[in-house]
Amino acid sequence: MRLLVIEDEPDLADGLARGLRHQGYAVDVAYDGLQGWELANANEYDLLILDLNLPAMDGLEVCRRVRAAHPALLILMLTARSRPDERVAGLDLGADDYLVKPFHFAELLARIRALLRRDMRVRAPLLQVKDLKLDPLGRVAWLGNRRLELTGKEFSILEYLMRHQGEVVSQEALLEHVWDMQANPLTNTVRVHINSLRRKLEDMAETPYYIETCIGHGYRLGTAKNLEET
Ligand code: CA
Repeated sequence: MRLLVIEDEPDLADGLARGLRHQGYAVDVAYDGLQGWELANANEYDLLILDLNLPAMDGLEVCRRVRAAHPALLILMLTARSRPDERVAGLDLGADDYLVKPFHFAELLARIRALLRRDMRVRAPLLQVKDLKLDPLGRVAWLGNRRLELTGKEFSILEYLMRHQGEVVSQEALLEHVWDMQANPLTNTVRVHINSLRRKLEDMAETPYYIETCIGHGYRLGTAKNLEET
């Protein structure tokens, strides 16, 4: 899950990003509305945390543009207690939910989970490829009946591959979806995580049952030809 925080108070923005990363989300931060809009438009995010009172471009304008360009992107507004009119305007412009400042981090997390859950029910409640099962919301994966102990990055890679089962997924696509900009990883990083994920799946590089390497192109989950008949 990749989130974008658009918030001009640096302490709040950075604190939110830290806390959210700690929860396993990939997080980018924009400190004004214009930068926020540009990032939201350029990258694929699952959810936007949008302060309304922003320099360079007003939060409501960001909301309006994002909604027009990316109808499915979830938007959680942060609003001032003193401005109920703003809240109404934001909801009218298509924001999905709001939180009044100041708020507790635990409540923000709960709102994010609720929005993603609502969204996920529409998209795919439980992912399954062969005997691999993954609950995107509960962030739990099973191999048969055995629960897999995965790191946050391994989980996110597996989720992305499962959402694109049968397709060749490039390392660049994985970098884009699983890592945030702060991480600035190398494509080698992807390989390292794929290898540790394979070990946990007890997958063999030469005859993969789950994650196939398509040399020069990327990875594919679940369609290794030599194992089609198993
Ligand atoms: Ca502000």
